[in-house]
Amino acid sequence: MIKFEEVSKTYPGGQQALSKVDFHVEQGEMAFLTGHSGAGKSTLLKLISLMERPNVGRVLINGHDLGKVKRKQVAYIRRDIGMIFQSHQLLMGKSVFDNVALPLIIEGHTRKTIFKRVDAALEMVGLRDKTKSLPITLSGGEQQRVGIARAVVNRPPLLLADEPTGNLDPKLSMEIIRLFEDFNSAGVSVFIATHDLGLIARMKYRTLTLKGGRMITDGLSQQGGWS
Ligand code: ADP
Ligand code: ADP
Repeated sequence: MIKFEEVSKTYPGGQQALSKVDFHVEQGEMAFLTGHSGAGKSTLLKLISLMERPNVGRVLINGHDLGKVKRKQVAYIRRDIGMIFQSHQLLMGKSVFDNVALPLIIEGHTRKTIFKRVDAALEMVGLRDKTKSLPITLSGGEQQRVGIARAVVNRPPLLLADEPTGNLDPKLSMEIIRLFEDFNSAGVSVFIATHDLGLIARMKYRTLTLKGGRMITDGLSQQGGWS
């Protein structure tokens, strides 16, 4: 699902953000990406979502060699990736329904499909009773769940999350992770970047650790560490 082959990324200013990163996340896997601030996590996610390109090496997503993707195809490739951010980037003046429906409207689905899919997505995140609410009236955890519903509504095979629990307390963070587990059980690949080691330590998931742009560990969470 995600394959990095000896990937290096140096920004135009000369800052090397990733060096010779090599790993593979299988279809249907759930894994965490961790490391200190500046370790290269965001850069790695940006390479997956085609917001940045590597200088050296290959990135493959769902069989597509991203180096061969033309500018016109970027939006099409991104449809396979549900992106979840720390700041959920919801439209605060639009209802929960409208926020979640957005990706489907962009893809040009029929009203019937949109209603069905939005309803299914809100059901999965437990927010069916908030369909007509404005996000501003919801709690932080609920807003994050709206963001997740929007990310999954077009049923991408891969969910990519960047610090999805950044603003949440440990209990709510765990609820969000449980949601990711639900999607993973349904066959979706899940890749979560976080510096919340406490959260990871409570679970036994594969954890990839970056340090200074290099992948220093790849194993079950207990064995991981930054030192
Ligand atoms: P993390 O997400 O782990 O905090 P980043 O990928 O944001 O790490 O950053 C890795 C390194 O690349 C850092 O040294 C950072 O300063 C640098 N960097 C990130 N984005 C840019 C950019 N757009 N231009 C120049 N340097 C950048
Ligand atoms: P249909 O496949 O006919 O469009 P539904 O939209 O009702 O049917 O969804 C069928 C099943 O798929 C439901 O059990 C629903 O919970 C589940 N589902 C909906 N969205 C997703 C998703 N993004 N990822 C995984 N399963 C989903």
